[in-house]
This record gives sequence, C-alpha cells and structure tokens, in this order.
Amino acid sequence: MYKLFRRTHVPRELEVQMAGACDPGMARGHNEDAIALREDDGCGFYLAIVCDGMGGANAGEVASAAAVEMIGAYIERGFGNERPESLLRGAFTEASQHIDEIARANPSSRGMGCTAVVALGIGQELYLANAGDSRAYRRRGSRLEQLSDDHTMVCEMVTMGLLSQRQADEHPYRGRISRCLGHGKNREEPAIRNVELERGDDILLCTDGLSDVVEDDEIERILSGNEVRQVTRRLIDAANAEGGPDNISAVVLRRVV
Ligand code: CA
Repeated sequence: MYKLFRRTHVPRELEVQMAGACDPGMARGHNEDAIALREDDGCGFYLAIVCDGMGGANAGEVASAAAVEMIGAYIERGFGNERPESLLRGAFTEASQHIDEIARANPSSRGMGCTAVVALGIGQELYLANAGDSRAYRRRGSRLEQLSDDHTMVCEMVTMGLLSQRQADEHPYRGRISRCLGHGKNREEPAIRNVELERGDDILLCTDGLSDVVEDDEIERILSGNEVRQVTRRLIDAANAEGGPDNISAVVLRRVV
C-alpha cells in the first residue's frame, strides 16, 4: 500500500485535508491503480486524481501512471488561463492522446487505457471530472451521495430504457466501461460537475475495487472517523476484508475549516 497526505490551509478561511491510499488488494499481483494529490501552495488550486488502468502485461500500470502525471502537469500549466471546466477537458484529452501514443510506440501495450476521476479545488469550489467507473462520493452529515455517473455500457442501456437497474446490476458485462483515457477510442470526454465544499464535507474518490465490494453504509460509517489518513486506510482494509478481488484506491478530501 502507498499513502499520500496533503493539506491546503488559508488561515481562518479554509483548511482542506487530503489523504489517499492505494493497495493491490488480495488477489492481484500488479497494482494498476494510481493516485496523486497536490496542495494549494500558492498556485491557486488543489488537486486529487484517481485512475484505474487496464491492458495486458504491465500496460494498465503504465496508462494510469501516465494519466495522473499528465493531468496534473496540464492543470499546473494551464491554470488561470482557462475556465476550470475547459482545463479539465483539455487535461483528459491530452492524457488520453499521450496514452495512445505510448501504446502505438509499444505494441505489447496496444489497447491500454484507464479511468480517471479528478477533484480540482479552488478555495471552496470543487470541480469533479470523471471518465469511466471510478467514482466521486460526498458525505455530508450522515448522508453518502454518489456525485459521479458511471460510464459503463449497462448504465447507458439503463438510461436508454433498454435494461432495468436490476438487470444492469446482474449483467455479465456490467464492468465494461464506455468512456476512458487511451484505449485508442477517443472516448475520454469527462462528465464535469461543480459543487461547493462546505465545512465538515468529505469527498471520496475511489476505484471499483472499493465501490464494488464495500456497501455504501459501511463507507459512510468509515468516513465518519475523525482522522482522514486513518479513514483511507480503513477503507482499503474494508475492501480487503471482502476478499480484495481488485486493486483498491481511496482518496478523501475533508474540509475541516
Ligand atoms: Ca479496478
């Protein structure tokens, strides 16, 4: 498991603590998830990124590592020059093209790609962007709410009325994603949502290695813990206690002031 911690602090106005943990789980030899955090050290923004890679051999790891790096670098370069939404769109597009370029140069990596869920914070404004089935949740009080839509084939079929939610939940292809970075498909267009981070809010970014195996009420219970680093470790432990069938990532942004 690797762990990250960053803190953004504006005296008397705002303090956001960000903790992340990333673990291979119990069943896989590789960790194809990647996470990154950046605090606002005067740059004007703070950032959290979670990616879940796919592709044979080590390709998934390469894709997710490239994505977190490219998205962070793109936002750092462009911040202040464009609106947050277009900055996020540009970051997803550039990272996606970069992953495709690596795959073209390296035939064993053909078809590699990754999901991405990103939180870009500017003061108390938070911009959430995602492509794929990695998720963003908000805990406010005792209520846990999924803020992102999953980009999967079956979710699209539910939206089109072709499947019921129950059929979707049991569908053999429910894990098949319809948007991602790379994969040679140019289907990286993120869904973007703007929320206000209130005092006491938690935002959780995670991969399906957590959300597939740990129930919402358990996630909510763990998030109500009082130390954010411990919370992310407990989320990983909870997924591993369910067998840890996939790689597991959990990043929590908590506004404490
Ligand atoms: Ca996964």
